[in-house]
Amino acid sequence: MFSKFILNTIFLFSVLIVSAQTDSGEKMNINLIKVKNNIYMLQAKGGNIGLSFGNDGVFMVDDQYADGIEQIQNEIKKVSDKPVRFLVNTHFHGDHTGGNPAMAETGTVIFSQENVRNRLQDVIAKETKKISEEALPVITFAEDLTFHFNGEKIYVFHVHNAHTDGDSMVYFTGSNVLHTGDVFFNGKYPYIDIENGGSLKGYIAGLDRALLIINEDTKVIPGHGDVGSYKDLKDTIEMLSILYKRVNNLYLNNKTEAEILEMADLTKEYDDEGFGDGFIKTDAFLKMIYKEVSQEASEGAEERAAKNKEAMKKYKEIEKKLKEKEKN
Ligand SMILES: [Zn+2]
Repeated sequence: MFSKFILNTIFLFSVLIVSAQTDSGEKMNINLIKVKNNIYMLQAKGGNIGLSFGNDGVFMVDDQYADGIEQIQNEIKKVSDKPVRFLVNTHFHGDHTGGNPAMAETGTVIFSQENVRNRLQDVIAKETKKISEEALPVITFAEDLTFHFNGEKIYVFHVHNAHTDGDSMVYFTGSNVLHTGDVFFNGKYPYIDIENGGSLKGYIAGLDRALLIINEDTKVIPGHGDVGSYKDLKDTIEMLSILYKRVNNLYLNNKTEAEILEMADLTKEYDDEGFGDGFIKTDAFLKMIYKEVSQEASEGAEERAAKNKEAMKKYKEIEKKLKEKEKN
């Protein structure tokens, strides 16, 4: 039986740091950080894992890489001898879903937004990475889903075309903890996977949606980085919106990508705060914004051209009718 005493004792240690060997023999540090009540964040090599421990069992958000999952499973077992019953993938990237086959093997039921499963199926079909069918979520949803587990409602909701086209956030409503997946990189420029349906506009809209659901006391587990707050999300929205506007204005003033990349002042206040020190450097982030801005502009131009063509066609039809009238 799961002892409450053991649980409480372990919860006293808000941070447990261990070293473990991965399959490749590489040393992997695992940090298990108490976020609030029975909700923890596990940090190792990949995206942050969210965990809820309690009488119903373990609820997990994301599972990092295949070669680290055994150590992560062992770490979870140290806190609870109950099974991991449910796992939610916040999106399809390998640093968030690599552990899926190993988790499925232990009987964990995997959930995700439907596009995550579709993307993973594509990866399996292309055989670019050797992953098995067991990696696929078995239950998918279009918009949202609520779990009633460990004494609280866990609300999982899809945010459209943000980091990818299959992102979900997971909100532990009773504990007031939100796991954002990669729709939030705390204090760093985010990676936006445009090839797989992500967009900066959707990313900002996704964060806006999160702010409507949470409140100022909410603790936020980001996809990457340390635990953040409501204010951190708000500041991120502001940073993204400002940089988007700046790049868009420069683009409209016919500045090239190369010219924009040379403007150090453009991002200075954020670079000074270390936003460019993460996985995505300043240049890469600006290139990404530029790509989106220029794509939007060309889509807009195509739309206008199509409308002009349509108007011209109508004008010619009217002209033809008028001429026929004259003849009669
Ligand atoms: Zn990702």
